[in-house]
Amino acid sequence: MQLVNGFKLMEYAKEKKLILPAFNTTNYELTAGIVKGYEAMGLGGYIAISSSNLKLSSPKIIANMVKAAMKDVSTPIALHLDHGKSFEDVKACIDAGFTSIMVDASHLPLEENIKEVKRTVEYCHFYGIPVEAELGAIGGKEDDHISEEDAKTNPEDVRSFVEQTQCDMLAVAIGNVHGMDLVPKLDFPLLEEIAEISSVPLVLHGGSGIPFNQVRRARENNLIKVNYGSDLRQAFIRTFGSAYEINHNEFDIMSLSKEAIINVEDRVKAIIREVNIH
Ligand SMILES: [Zn+2]
Repeated sequence: MQLVNGFKLMEYAKEKKLILPAFNTTNYELTAGIVKGYEAMGLGGYIAISSSNLKLSSPKIIANMVKAAMKDVSTPIALHLDHGKSFEDVKACIDAGFTSIMVDASHLPLEENIKEVKRTVEYCHFYGIPVEAELGAIGGKEDDHISEEDAKTNPEDVRSFVEQTQCDMLAVAIGNVHGMDLVPKLDFPLLEEIAEISSVPLVLHGGSGIPFNQVRRARENNLIKVNYGSDLRQAFIRTFGSAYEINHNEFDIMSLSKEAIINVEDRVKAIIREVNIH
């Protein structure tokens, strides 16, 4: 199957009343595990990669790899740029065939954030690709970007931000944090308030650290997408780590890579199952 357009995937989520997971990839094994997990569960979602992670390879390498991995797949999957850090990154990803984009200008003052998102939306919409934007600062570690601020999304800014930028999804900061080191405390009254105001569906980052019952609870508040990164990375790294612990001379990279794919797939299946239990 071809990569699915992000707008189509959003319609699919709405129709089926699903929370779509976005699983961050880095390399082939993570990608293969994610694709197999989606296919096994018969549900769609996103494969995502962040701007900082793209420096390890390139948008083209990632897009070609994901397309190749999806050859025999029948569930809809979009390829999403996570935390797009520059307009250049956004353009390179669109050129490479990404089908969904996030622009993260949340570190900028509000007016500049709006300006940056607006020009990204204009560009992406020209190519028929939806844009996720972030309002407020999501704490924790997102690859090489470490955010110290604890700036929750201000509901007073939501309406004009969405109207002015014309973004298609809004990533909110409601106490969710990146990574698994910090324990998130989701502010549900704030989420409810934002959901009432926002005309576009909401996105939760830092899924790996959030208990599943809280993710399911957030679904009632116009939540369309939850991001998972650390979870799968741990499943991947653990495979090699435990083999090394047992045998410091271990060199069977092929068997371990196959095992890593299965471990990632298992995690993907568990997450999809948990977030969509009705
Ligand atoms: Zn994030």
